[in-house]
Amino acid sequence: MSKLSWVSEELDGLKQAGLFNRIRTIESPQGAWLQVDGKRVLNFCSNNYLGLANHPAIVKAAKEGIDKMGVGPAAVRSIAGTMSPHIELEKRLAAFKGVEAAITFQSGFAANLATIPVLVGKEDVIFSDRLNHASIIDGCRLSGAKIIAYEHNDPASLEEQIKLNLSQYRRGLVVTDGVFSMDGDIAPLPALYEVTKKYDLLFMVDDAHGEGVLGKGGRGIVDHFGMHGKIDVEIGTLSKAFGVVGGIVAGNALIIDWLRQRGRPFLFSSAMTVPDAYACLAAVDLLEGSTELVDRLWKNAEYFKGKMKLLGFDIGHSETPITPVMLGEAPLAQQFSRELFEENIFAMALGFPTVPKGLARIRVMISAAHSLSDLDHGLTAFEKVGKKLGVI
Ligand SMILES: *Cc1c(COP(=O)(O)O)cnc(C)c1O
Repeated sequence: MSKLSWVSEELDGLKQAGLFNRIRTIESPQGAWLQVDGKRVLNFCSNNYLGLANHPAIVKAAKEGIDKMGVGPAAVRSIAGTMSPHIELEKRLAAFKGVEAAITFQSGFAANLATIPVLVGKEDVIFSDRLNHASIIDGCRLSGAKIIAYEHNDPASLEEQIKLNLSQYRRGLVVTDGVFSMDGDIAPLPALYEVTKKYDLLFMVDDAHGEGVLGKGGRGIVDHFGMHGKIDVEIGTLSKAFGVVGGIVAGNALIIDWLRQRGRPFLFSSAMTVPDAYACLAAVDLLEGSTELVDRLWKNAEYFKGKMKLLGFDIGHSETPITPVMLGEAPLAQQFSRELFEENIFAMALGFPTVPKGLARIRVMISAAHSLSDLDHGLTAFEKVGKKLGVI
């Protein structure tokens, strides 16, 4: 017996349960169509909501950025100085989102790991939506605060937990995803805010799937609900609709200043690269210049979701371009995904632990990069496979 035989057993167990994730290789730039494992397929997987990942203006900005300032930031920002494109990006993002200040991180994941532990510690309590993203959960754990889950998108459950627990702690933080990425539903921010206000709690929302998607011209969930100035801190990502990579924390200027002094992924890990920063600046330019891409994203989503319902699929209760196609057991979802791939459709199955057991699904990610004929092509394949596997 080797000391790692347990790993082989775990991996075999995943394979038997239909939960082993075989990751495909993409051999082309991102876009509506991809070359995947040697085959040209329609892309229903990526978070490239606006088609910016390979947009000519973004690619050009990254190349010009390299010519001007090179590639790597060469050290952490707090020790060796911070490069001007990163500062420029933070100013532009703050203005775009209508907040006092913003700071960027290497990723949205890192932004959560940085932010939660600077706001709360051992003597404090966090009230966290039961379905929050893994990076929020990990940020909560790193903080050392007591973590109390409230029922998903349920302000009454939040208030109940606050009443039961808050008095035993120094400070409280309420944290929620803005858009829940597995179901595509939106947090009821105004009602949650009323509860946080009543008990004077810090309020944080992670808008990773709302950035560039919700609100006027993609300004995010706070803009969507017209709640400017009411949310203490907003997490965002530059890796989804923005098409590049990186994380944002936006909101109250005091919190942003505090993160520059104490946010560990800021202090102990290098910044996003120079071309990343320039590419993101170009993305802000595009979004500020026109709402065309965001409008097309929503039009595409409405079209696709409407037709899927007519075909008889259960597409859950999404309020965003995220379209879950509910299939139940993980092996069926995996088989569905493989059959779609035979039809030249790239749409991945999601099973436990990404979603709860028995709620496996195919998740279709609609993008502004899709044409209506692309969507029709996808719908035809879904109909064919759905009938073949007895789903519709
Ligand atoms: C995707 C996502 C993240 C992570 O963002 P990255 O920039 O890819 O690290 C964080 N939070 C939520 C809610 C997400 O959906």
